[in-house]
Amino acid sequence: MTTTTTPPDKPQRTEVEIIASLQNTVSASRLNTFLQCRLKFYFLYVLELKKPKTAALHVGSTVHAVLKSWSKARWLGRPLTLKELHEEFSRAWADDSEGPVVWEDNEADEKATGWRLCETYLRECRIPTDIKPDAVEVPVEADLSEYGLPRLIGILDLVQQGRIIDYKTAASTPNAEKVAHTTEVQTSSYGVLYRANKSQPENGIELHHLVKLKNPKVVITSLPPMSDAQQTRLFHLMEAYVSGVARREFIPSPGMQCASCEFFNECRQWK
Ligand code: SF4
Repeated sequence: MTTTTTPPDKPQRTEVEIIASLQNTVSASRLNTFLQCRLKFYFLYVLELKKPKTAALHVGSTVHAVLKSWSKARWLGRPLTLKELHEEFSRAWADDSEGPVVWEDNEADEKATGWRLCETYLRECRIPTDIKPDAVEVPVEADLSEYGLPRLIGILDLVQQGRIIDYKTAASTPNAEKVAHTTEVQTSSYGVLYRANKSQPENGIELHHLVKLKNPKVVITSLPPMSDAQQTRLFHLMEAYVSGVARREFIPSPGMQCASCEFFNECRQWK
């Protein structure tokens, strides 16, 4: 069983202040959580309950840190060697600033898997390493007040030749058609954010899945630029978010997703 803690060393805000700030800004992950389960959203973003980091999350954030360093170095015109990237991997793996990790399997095995994923990605990602990225890990925002919507915020992992690239680690091979649907809130948000900052449409969006198999593989799903219909769908979902948060509709949505919900025990206490 996992335990819950309240965040340490954070200035205390009232629930009213927290909800007001959630009404002012929204990110794709916040919106996705709200659409998945409003009670989970409440635990995560209103009560700000923290859970110990899972092994899968630690592998994902470490791989992400390595790829960020790899792209940043290319952007600076000083590409890193494999040895330097491995050192970066070791540093990120040892980083415990977000608290201890809950290891279900052997940590050494997980670590080996993480580095194998990085090596496989660097070998198979097909990103032209001689072309400087447009942007790396850049925080962006879009003022959507003209639509009566909150400010949209997000971080773009990598933009290369006008294409937005997002890294994901996965336990199984993704299905291209399904993944286009299940990630649509995120990809449409990226489209809106890109256009608000570049004043032109993106050339496309790529999802780069690093799949944690015995023999890791990279699956690249190329999506076209966001369509007008996708932007409309996103804005409708944001409207539902705005009205749901304003009405404090923090109710559970029992379903398949509960099997992996970190707030299962808290949820059972809900009345
Ligand atoms: S267990 Fe299910 S219903 Fe409860 S908070 Fe988690 S996702 Fe929502």
